[in-house]
Amino acid sequence: MNDTINLFQKYLRSKKLKCTPEREEILALILSMSGAHFEADDILTTLRKKKSKIAKGTIYRTLKHLVDAGILRSVIFVDRHAHYEVVAGHKRHSHLVCIKCGKIIEFFDSKIYSALAAIAKKNGFTESGRKVEVTGFCRRCK
Ligand SMILES: [Zn+2]
Ligand SMILES: [Zn+2]
Repeated sequence: MNDTINLFQKYLRSKKLKCTPEREEILALILSMSGAHFEADDILTTLRKKKSKIAKGTIYRTLKHLVDAGILRSVIFVDRHAHYEVVAGHKRHSHLVCIKCGKIIEFFDSKIYSALAAIAKKNGFTESGRKVEVTGFCRRCK
């Protein structure tokens, strides 16, 4: 956890941004949450419960910085709003997303990833990122 906060402070300094108590509070909260995937609104709700007055805009901007710093990645693209998950300690995986109840199933299949790498290579394409997401209906919703 401290490593991640250090990483964030370093990133902010490199961007000439201030490491404000608000930014640190948001990061500490994210790291303390056990849920793998969350939205900006989840952060807002939790902060409000804790009587924190951090503005919504600050939360959105901080989440963007955390993605840029490589601490979070945005996942789940079915909705218009972004969902995030913590990168550290979470090995690369992809998602099955139920478009009815929002259930997210994580999967990892190295065959898919090597197939994608091969496709990129064949096309002389240098990968900078990869998003594998399957949408549909979960067992309970179908
Ligand atoms: Zn479902
Ligand atoms: Zn995930």
